[in-house]
Amino acid sequence: MATTDLLQFDRPGLASWFAAHGEKPFRARQVFRWLHQRGATDFAAMTDLAKPLRAWLEAEASMAALSVLTTQRSRDGTVKWLFDVGNGDAVEAVFIPERSRNTLCVSSQAGCAMACRFCSTGAQGFSRNLTTAEILAQLRHAEFFMRAELGLAAGERAISNVVMMGMGEPLQNYGALVPALRVMLDDDGYGLSRRRVTVSTSGVVPMIDRLAADCPVALAVSLHAPHDVLRDDLVPLNRKYPLEELLAACERYLAHAPRDFITFEYCMLDGINDQPAHARALVDMVHGRIPCKFNLIPFNPFPGSGLRSSTSERVAAFASVLLEAGIVTTVRKTRGDDIDAACGQLAGDVRDRTSRARRATGVGTIPIQLVSPSGDAAFPAQTP
Ligand code: SAH
Ligand code: SF4
Repeated sequence: MATTDLLQFDRPGLASWFAAHGEKPFRARQVFRWLHQRGATDFAAMTDLAKPLRAWLEAEASMAALSVLTTQRSRDGTVKWLFDVGNGDAVEAVFIPERSRNTLCVSSQAGCAMACRFCSTGAQGFSRNLTTAEILAQLRHAEFFMRAELGLAAGERAISNVVMMGMGEPLQNYGALVPALRVMLDDDGYGLSRRRVTVSTSGVVPMIDRLAADCPVALAVSLHAPHDVLRDDLVPLNRKYPLEELLAACERYLAHAPRDFITFEYCMLDGINDQPAHARALVDMVHGRIPCKFNLIPFNPFPGSGLRSSTSERVAAFASVLLEAGIVTTVRKTRGDDIDAACGQLAGDVRDRTSRARRATGVGTIPIQLVSPSGDAAFPAQTP
């Protein structure tokens, strides 16, 4: 008989499942804490539950882990995992350590249907939505892997921030996303504040409104262009939800958002959207209307994109136009570039990776170089 994967539930969902089976709902809280605070992989380890309950859970329930295809460590401390999600599909999650926070970038779909021109995930096409359990399994794996790696004391958390900026468009997988966000926010789960969980979207307007009502967290909107003609080309979803509608949704979201600004992401593409005139048009578009920050992301190339990244001078000139208008603007540092962990480089498809590696190396395997966090001694090379 098939078991029920408990990672699919937020805490009320787990309580209902317990209640439906005649178990005391408060048991759900204990089990939930074992799953998400202590990283239990085995019901037998849940020692504060009565033995018959543990035995019943062993028979009826599971906590499915995603199998890890590769773990890559960058010289700069970034760690990237490739998880198998079946049928030749794989998704990636990336741990990015910084001075004041440790961020996990999480995937929401295998592939993506949005087909943004500058995105490797988009170039791969859409395979399927991840389940709530698969979204949370990325976080659970990364959290407990990093606790061990960093040698943290019991109860200390490794991950302080989650960004839904991995593969896929999270608001196209809304039903699975929201319970996963609730587990991230739950004090009995990962205990993250709403300000430290960010959903990034290419602009699925109706779902921005639903997120505001159901689970307001920090919002990042991938803008990439100051007018519809250019945005229609770069982000095809713009043809359905043009800029004016998107900006109006951002204004509405701000009434509920845990932060009092929207983050606009802007991928800097050489000769396409990176002129000072584009920056001035952005200022006109948001000024006095939407409190926002800009995050400029130099384009990360991938094979076959036909696009180039803006020069650092061009990025700096663009940033200064925004800054002079009083808009907080940051330029995203590329992290983990020795392991292709940067924005828009997450490909994940196992078949695709194999064929790319064949093209690149003339052989059928990808030699993956694991680098120690300190960057000196190389770990043994591993071949997936
Ligand atoms: N689908 C969501 C979240 C995942 S993409 C979205 O589009 O917002 C996360 C961020 O990386 C987005 O801002 C996206 O526009 C950006 N991005 C995608 N491909 C990129 C590339 N090749 N170089 C730089 N940024 C890229
Ligand atoms: Fe999908 Fe985001 Fe990539 Fe666009 S940028 S194709 S929405 S993952």
